[in-house]
Amino acid sequence: MSDTGLCDLAVVGLGVMGGNLARNFASRGLRVAGYQRTVEHAHALAAAHPEAHLRVASSLAELVGMLERPRRIVLMVNAGPAVDSVLDQLDPLLEDGDIVVDGGNSLYTDTDRRVARAEARPWRFVGMGVSGGAEGALLGPSIMPGGDRYAWERLRHPLEAIAARSPSGVCVTYCGRGSAGHFVKMVHNGIEYGDMQLIAEVASLMREGMGWPWGQVADTFAGWNRGELESYLIEITADILRAPDPQNPGALLIDAILDRAGQKGTGKWTVVAAAEHGVPIPTIAAAVDARLLSAAKDLRERAEAALRPSRGVVQGVSPDDLRDALYAAKIASYTQGFALLQAASEARDYGTNLAEIARIWTGGCIIRAAFLERIRASFAPASRPSGPEGSERPELLVLAPDFAADVARRLPGWRRVVAAAAAAGHPIPGLAASLAWFDTLTRSRGSASLIQAQRDYFGSHTYERVDAPGVFVHTEWPRSSQ
Ligand code: NDP
Repeated sequence: MSDTGLCDLAVVGLGVMGGNLARNFASRGLRVAGYQRTVEHAHALAAAHPEAHLRVASSLAELVGMLERPRRIVLMVNAGPAVDSVLDQLDPLLEDGDIVVDGGNSLYTDTDRRVARAEARPWRFVGMGVSGGAEGALLGPSIMPGGDRYAWERLRHPLEAIAARSPSGVCVTYCGRGSAGHFVKMVHNGIEYGDMQLIAEVASLMREGMGWPWGQVADTFAGWNRGELESYLIEITADILRAPDPQNPGALLIDAILDRAGQKGTGKWTVVAAAEHGVPIPTIAAAVDARLLSAAKDLRERAEAALRPSRGVVQGVSPDDLRDALYAAKIASYTQGFALLQAASEARDYGTNLAEIARIWTGGCIIRAAFLERIRASFAPASRPSGPEGSERPELLVLAPDFAADVARRLPGWRRVVAAAAAAGHPIPGLAASLAWFDTLTRSRGSASLIQAQRDYFGSHTYERVDAPGVFVHTEWPRSSQ
């Protein structure tokens, strides 16, 4: 507590994330006030963690009175109407320069609306993504604030105090204007969907397609985690695949888990946002579709019984091929995600710095990986060689020289895995969609000539000739029937 007896900041919503964020702020020497709609939960949290010296308010009005001015209030309530409800209650209580931060997983268009609302009011608004789950919130998350720059400058110190630290620095940066923070967090989650799907496909191919015991799969992932694939998700995969089933001695827990994946919506939002910004993200879209199909367990059982597809052993694929396929598809997925961030930054005037986004994802968040430091370096002007060609930011991540070389080296193994899995009847939607994206991207003359001809045939939509691009013509197509 300061001389005035006031707190440095407040957290509203002391659930899984808010409770841990409040404790994290307190552990860095900040004086924290807390409020939760169900006040007894807030008192229980304060009693369970006396070391945090959390000061619990029994109303938002009381909370506001407990804070130094300008006030800093971090909301960690469920995304959606709960955020608007708390903002409605806070609005008459706040004064000039006070700052409200929405730290939940809000849809970026909701954040646009709230940014516009705050612009007409004396208080400031920041939409902020937080990644790292419950443990990250407590020990150091990756933090993605955007919106009001004045507010960011006043939030910088407490956010830098609680954020994760990696060899690339402290994992918080200003992501850009407006709803940039929540847009960046949404794309982070979309990339996370892609990573998880690719890992699950490769593990399933090893187990179901190649007959490996789970222990061998786990050991292989643990080995990969010491190389170019080093990442939190690869690391936890090895742990998960070794975990015993507490209800069935001698068995592994993975075999007892129903193959129905849940989702809360950020993957779907990423796919919708990508379509709206004209950016293809087939790896992430395949991951969302795969979760939808996984949820249709009953339908899959009926379809398998009715259609009885043949499913055989995956032939001619080495462990190195599997690693290469996973790594190359990951490059494809991150290329798509960063292309979406770039397109949104331009279309929505965010001013997002891609190198900084890669940097704050190197620690604290679910997709943290050694690989992200290389992405940072590819997008960072200072680290690129000077000169007319070297100083350009790559148009796409996969076109950066070292990633282009990486993919070229891994392409033969990637093709072998996709071909062998398809031939043996094992689904690999993420690996295959990524390869199809790569092959389409790298084919200067594609199959769309016929699409244009069909559109002109049935709808007079016109087309361009190769010898006169930009000139749209229509043809009266010869018809074989009336
Ligand atoms: P919890 O369910 O643990 O906590 C939700 C909090 O919101 C509770 O304090 C709850 O209070 C409060 N709340 C809900 N509805 C209202 C309302 N109408 N008015 C006031 N308060 C309300 O959720 P999490 O902590 O897991 O998630 C919070 C946010 O953080 C979400 O947006 C989530 O998507 C995001 N997030 C979660 C992550 C995770 O790993 N869990 C990771 C990153 C972000 P009460 O107890 O009174 O209902």
